[in-house]
Amino acid sequence: MFRSLHMKLVLILVLLIVSVMAVVGTFLINSVSTFYLDSFYEQVQDVFDPALIASLEQTAAETGAAGLKTAVSAYAVTLGIGDYRPYYILDGEGRYLEGWNENLAGSLTRTSNIIAAMAGGTGTRSSVADSVIDVAIPLQADGDGQVDYIIYIADQKQEISDLSWRFFQIVMQAMMFGMLAAILLSFLLSKTITTPIERITEGARLIAEGHYDQQLGVQSSDEIGELTRSFNYMAERLKSTIGEVQGERDKLSTLFLHMTDGVAAFTTDGTLIHMNPATESLLGVRMEDGLSFDELFADIDLLGADETAMRTFLTSEITRRGRVLSVTLAPYGALDGEGGVIAVFHDITEQRKLDEARREFVANVSHELRTPLTNIHSYTETLLDAAGDIPPETEKQFLGVISSESDRMARIVTDLLTLSKLDYGRMELRMTRFSLGDMLKNVAGAMKLTAENSGHELTVDAPDTLPALVGDRERLEQVVANILSNAVKYTPSGGHIRLSACAHGQSHVRITVEDDGVGIPEADVPRLFERFYRVDKARSRAAGGTGLGLAIAKEIVQQHEGRIALASEYGKGTTVTITLPTGLTPGGEEAQA
Ligand code: ADP
Repeated sequence: MFRSLHMKLVLILVLLIVSVMAVVGTFLINSVSTFYLDSFYEQVQDVFDPALIASLEQTAAETGAAGLKTAVSAYAVTLGIGDYRPYYILDGEGRYLEGWNENLAGSLTRTSNIIAAMAGGTGTRSSVADSVIDVAIPLQADGDGQVDYIIYIADQKQEISDLSWRFFQIVMQAMMFGMLAAILLSFLLSKTITTPIERITEGARLIAEGHYDQQLGVQSSDEIGELTRSFNYMAERLKSTIGEVQGERDKLSTLFLHMTDGVAAFTTDGTLIHMNPATESLLGVRMEDGLSFDELFADIDLLGADETAMRTFLTSEITRRGRVLSVTLAPYGALDGEGGVIAVFHDITEQRKLDEARREFVANVSHELRTPLTNIHSYTETLLDAAGDIPPETEKQFLGVISSESDRMARIVTDLLTLSKLDYGRMELRMTRFSLGDMLKNVAGAMKLTAENSGHELTVDAPDTLPALVGDRERLEQVVANILSNAVKYTPSGGHIRLSACAHGQSHVRITVEDDGVGIPEADVPRLFERFYRVDKARSRAAGGTGLGLAIAKEIVQQHEGRIALASEYGKGTTVTITLPTGLTPGGEEAQA
């Protein structure tokens, strides 16, 4: 019950008031007793002055105890003599002789004041605590220096007892009223202190529950008012700080949600606590699977990592669902307490493929160049070593090989240069408007002799209605010539090769080269446009191929915003289709590129 500040304040105030009243009451009662005692002795001293004492001694000498009684009785009123304050006439030994009334004889007690008077001094010592206040005045009747009589007055303190009791009652009554008033006042007073504190407590509770827009009314300018103001300021700051933190968190979670890199967080004991959608799709797992760090990364060797790497970050590579992922593990917080590890995943499959392609390309280039170079070298060596000893026909044959191998090298280098220019956009297309039919006939004308020499029948089907084309004629001729030359090369003698073209939709033309040659196995078709990819290397080489023709064709067609496709049936023949935009608006005007 007294746990609340409210009740404690009430109790303190009540105790305070009660104890103050008790002290005041006790002090008051004590003061009254002291005052009574003092005024008793003053009264006695006033009456029994030296003149009266001398006169009483005279009376005693003359009339004895009876005369004394009469003389003292004359002062009865002044001394307040009565039943509760009687007087006694004692002899020098303190024995009763006379008194205020006859019944007193047996009630006499020899007090210290009587003993003092017997010794010759006036006995005027009493304390507030004594049950009786008394005074004993010695008298000498015969002048022999001995005490002959003692006038003894004893007050029963009845009056003061009554007065004290009355005082006590008044004090008790006052205390009762005071207590009631104290309880009432302290209730009101403590309410004024505790109410604002209760309001602040409630406000703090609401803030803890997340209601940050708490503002309490300031009702006073005292310490509590100051506390309320500070509370309001705190709530305001908290609101803005939480708002900022929330904003940052929102930004981060949006980032996590939409970033293409995966991010996952683990506690120090390996429990997964966060995973963004990118991680789920990269690793092929879901947050709900509840996998631990060890289960997810059993293939990462953490034990091999050195101490510094463990404290900063650690990078490793893993393969998941056929994709290569780089994993960066970085600790956050304290590794031995609150904290854990953040893992960031980056898909590096394409990068790895590119690296691989680059390595393969370099290896291919070296290989392609080394073969003719080795041939040239060995034939030249042989010619030099056996100079003059070789029959002229053989020498001619050797020189022929050297010449054709150097031609091949030159072709490879030229093709590589062309590709490099295309790759780096350094090949500028010289765009002109020309007749596609003319262009095709021109290419076919140039190839006709070669085709006929191989025993092929080359037909051209280019209708006069073919639309004009805007493009780099020389490069496009190179593309068609290359495809035609492939058809010638990879078709056994007596084959049929057809070069045709037609309009394709409103704004495109389609060029088709068909042959009934060796064809290409299905598995090789998708890779034909790769650099140096050849189905039959020996045949390609024998036919003077570099393995770069289709790759160059594809680049040039793509630079014209066109498409090239190859369809083939092994052993039956191949069809290459090139689709190109005419580069003209439907009205026949050249498009503004
Ligand atoms: P190459 O210089 O070897 O001809 P290409 O890039 O022009 O290089 O062609 C790549 C490979 O595609 C050739 O080596 C060949 O194996 C195959 N090929 C291309 N065209 C045909 C075709 N018309 N018939 C059969 N195979 C072809």
